[in-house]
Amino acid sequence: MVADCLFCRIVAEEIPADVVYTDDRVIAFRDIMPKAPTHVLVIPREHIADITELGANREAAADVLNGVRAVSRQLELPYFTTIFNTGPESGQTVLHVHAHILSGSGQMWAHGQK
Ligand code: AMP
Ligand code: ZN
Repeated sequence: MVADCLFCRIVAEEIPADVVYTDDRVIAFRDIMPKAPTHVLVIPREHIADITELGANREAAADVLNGVRAVSRQLELPYFTTIFNTGPESGQTVLHVHAHILSGSGQMWAHGQK
């Protein structure tokens, strides 16, 4: 755990979250400022900064993608877009890797808008 990391604090249950799926490797919770009717974040319990670091950790990468799969099933999403922002210029504000799952806004997400 990284003490000043917002998402590590959610993992530690120091900050409440609207959890939609959890297992021993990941947590998925609703984004506090949703950009679509359904907007969920999937994070590993382990602190990993971004997708480049995640990509070097095959087990964690599979865990996060399995979390995406589990959320899509849990919420019965007929379609969704998945975004990983990487670096501040991309809009990454929390340096603990998270997959955004966005659904319910039709085509707009297909063009990478956020
Ligand atoms: P990013 O901008 O890609 O780093 O995404 C971070 C996301 O975390 C943003 O969409 C925020 O709205 C969301 N967020 C920030 N604080 C919280 C929180 N306490 N609970 C849920 N989502 C949050
Ligand atoms: Zn963290």
